[in-house]
This record gives sequence, structure tokens and C-alpha cells, in this order.
Amino acid sequence: LSQLFRPLDLLGMVYRTIRQGLIDMEAMYRLIDTQAEIADAPDAPMLHVEAGEVRFDHVHFGYDPEREILHGVSFTVPAGKTLAIVGPSGAGKSTIARLLFRFYDIQGGRISIDGQDIAAVTQQSLRSTIGIVPQDMVLFNDTVGYNIGYGREGATQEEIEAAARAASIHDFIMGLPQGYDTRVGERGLKLSGGEKQRVAIARTLLKDPPVLVLDEATSALDSRTETEIQDVLRTISRRRTTLVVAHRLSTVVDADEIIVMEKGRIVERGRHADLVRADGLYAAMWTRQATEREDMPVEPGIEDMF
Ligand code: ADP
Ligand code: MG
Repeated sequence: LSQLFRPLDLLGMVYRTIRQGLIDMEAMYRLIDTQAEIADAPDAPMLHVEAGEVRFDHVHFGYDPEREILHGVSFTVPAGKTLAIVGPSGAGKSTIARLLFRFYDIQGGRISIDGQDIAAVTQQSLRSTIGIVPQDMVLFNDTVGYNIGYGREGATQEEIEAAARAASIHDFIMGLPQGYDTRVGERGLKLSGGEKQRVAIARTLLKDPPVLVLDEATSALDSRTETEIQDVLRTISRRRTTLVVAHRLSTVVDADEIIVMEKGRIVERGRHADLVRADGLYAAMWTRQATEREDMPVEPGIEDMF
């Protein structure tokens, strides 16, 4: 009997790992249907998104209800705007992203998109509304075309190529031995971090979701790749409501609002200039970064504090 359970254990482990890392949540959701913990309400309606306003209203949450992680977090991301979430490691930044995707149900407060409680609508409709560009995407052992086309069922080759072009990966793909039919993933061609991220971006472009969640990589990409990806991300977040767990200076500086998280609370909020002027935690991080930055040729990640 224990043998029978082993594959399930393995799937569970893979699932937990991915959930933890916010790695490739959508892919996993299609692979394993994990409706055990989170269930749709009977007759749950579909989420109807017009504008795409995202709202957290006094959200309380703990992975273990005995140990609360988010202590009443409130913010609104108006439709089409960008919210940057920064703060030290363990502050609860990725948890916010996981809750928006309804990986877990909250213990208090409300999370809504265009006024609809995300816990009251079907999970399928919620997930089709949100696009995620993960830090580290897991590619399917399939062709690169499949890995992009996966963003939208029934996508044509033309649409796939248009998305790849917009994500600055088309030329790279055309240079592969079999172009879009080249197999990638663990058993195929290994792509670099930057290439995988561009595949993720192309996939998201194809999906064309009104709400976008970005978890910026903390790991160093070379500076040219970094700049390219930054540009592409800026393009795809335009006119889409975007929540970004931000590690890069340029992202933070351009955000419509920044929330500074510490120990599960928002301790500061505002735009970059306001926060620098406020001379609090954010300003201290900024100053420290600026000092460390002086002898560096390009903007580095600010992973240690952001
Ligand atoms: P951040 O992204 O800001 O670094 P997280 O949102 O990942 O922080 O984590 C916030 C807190 O929640 C941390 O104390 C972390 O240890 C805890 N935590 C994260 N994931 C889990 C989990 N699956 N189970 C229990 N605790 C968790
Ligand atoms: Mg995190």
C-alpha cells in the first residue's frame, strides 16, 4: 500500500516546493488539481473583470492559524497601476502574491478584484484573470513552442511567434536547431535563467491577463539581459494591474505605489520620492544601497533588503 502512495507523496512534495517559491503556480495547477484545501463555494459565480482593481482589506493570514503572518494588510491597486512590494526577507511579500492567487484562504479581512471577493468566485476564473511571471520557471519537457503556447489554449503559430517577438525571444528561438520545435526542459535543451524568463513572459503575453503578478529574480542576470527583461516587463505591465515583489531599483522607482513590509505589516507606503523624503526604513535602505552602489557599473539587485 505504501507504494501506492509514493507517487502522491512525490506530487505533494513538488507542489509544496513550487507553492513555496511561487515558481510556476499555474502550470502546477493544471498538472495536479489540488482542490482539497481550497474549494469553490457551491454555485460559485465566475469572476467578472472589467477594470482589474485589486484590493486587500485588513487581511489576516497565517499558514498555521496559530501563528499569524500578515497582521491586517490593506492596500488598493487601481486598475492598470503598479504596486511594488518591498521589505526584508520573511516580511510576507510572496505571501501576498500567493493569497491573491488563492493558494490559501485568509483568516480575516477580504481580498477582492473589481469588488468581487476572490474566495466567492470559481478558482478557474480567478486564475485565468491573473498572469504570473515567476522567478524561476519550470519548463515542460516539450518544444519551446509548446511552452509558450501553453499560455492560451488554441493559440496559433502566428500568435505564439508574435508573443515571442514581444518578449524578445523570437530571434533566439529561430537560431535553435529546430526553431520552435526544439525540445527544451530537463530532457531537452537547457535554457538560461534569462531565456526561461522570456519564455515565461511570452506565455503571459499570450494569456493576456488583466492582472499581473511578478516576482522579480533576486539572482543576478547579466546586465544586458537584465535591462532587456526590465524593458519587456515594463511593456507588459503597462495598462495591466501589476503587483510586483520588487528587487530592482528601476521597478521600485517607477511604481505608482510602494508598500514597505516588515514582519507582516505595512510600515511605510508611498511613491519613491515620498518615501525617501519621509526618512524612514525605506530611506535607510535606499541610502545603504546607494553607498554600496557607488563603485558598481550598473544598478544591482537590492535583494538583501528588498
Ligand atoms: P518574503 O517573501 O517577504 O521573504 P514570505 O511571504 O515568503 O516572505 O514569508 C513570510 C513568513 O511566512 C516567513 O516567516 C515565512 O517563514 C513564513 N512562511 C512562508 N511560507 C510558509 C509556509 N508554507 N508555511 C509556514 N510558514 C511559511
Ligand atoms: Mg519572497
